[in-house]
Amino acid sequence: MKVLVLGGTGQARRLVAALHGRPEFTVTSSLAGRVAVPALPQGDVRIGGFGGADGLVAWLRRHGTDVVVDATHPFAVRMTENAVAAGAATGVPLLLLRRAGWTAGPGDRWHRVPDAVSAAAVLPALGERVFLTTGRGDLAAFAGLDRLWFLLRSVDPPPPPLPLRCEVIQARGPFTADAERELLREHHIDVLVTRDSGGEMTAAKLVAARELGVPVVMLARPPAPAGPTVSTVDEAVRWLEDRLPALL
Ligand code: NAP
Repeated sequence: MKVLVLGGTGQARRLVAALHGRPEFTVTSSLAGRVAVPALPQGDVRIGGFGGADGLVAWLRRHGTDVVVDATHPFAVRMTENAVAAGAATGVPLLLLRRAGWTAGPGDRWHRVPDAVSAAAVLPALGERVFLTTGRGDLAAFAGLDRLWFLLRSVDPPPPPLPLRCEVIQARGPFTADAERELLREHHIDVLVTRDSGGEMTAAKLVAARELGVPVVMLARPPAPAGPTVSTVDEAVRWLEDRLPALL
């Protein structure tokens, strides 16, 4: 079975690791090429956009791909749309591997908002010193909040426009709760803004916010497309294994 894994997430790397070395699977991982030094999955990797849905269609046909697993980040909307369109155009089955979102527990002070613009609107009422972890695509929504101070964290330096008053730290998860607590304390953070990415790699900031009583503005996920969907690597492996007999 020739499998294309649309990746760029820890979950995609774990799926590829689970299939690696199994002779019944030939796996290619695809990365967007966003970060200068990507965390590479095992095995065959291609890097860079396909050229829209049409480019992906051409790639799938050229490589005789049997199955696509979309294991991209829950907020990578365009890639997922293209994968759905290419699956429809080629008939290549598409599995969406999407980890579960986070749920608030006792002690959490979460404000769920639909998008970055709504997050920017509620922020001034919640504090002045903001830890913003929404990713570079959403920064523009916060650029006009000149009275607030922002701590930004990203793998590579974020592109403008940035908030007027901000400090950027470059780092890549996973992060520990101890380190996140220290970071929030050191920068006197009043409020955390994050997206509902789910997963373990970046959940420690939520633990730290809970312990310190820091409110969290949580951006909702974009809706997932209809179609076969699993939330864990084990389920994805089983789904692929179940389809093997059809290829014999
Ligand atoms: P996006 O907005 O949905 O995609 C924009 C374009 O980037 C796509 O149309 C595609 O270009 C290309 N692309 C995206 N993912 C790709 C992949 N895995 N392989 C090949 N091309 C890809 O995506 P994004 O939000 O910028 O995310 C880019 C990558 O970073 C994804 O792999 C995602 O899993 C990872 N990531 C994203 C986030 C996030 O917050 N969005 C966080 C962590 C990791 P073409 O149209 O030319 O094919």
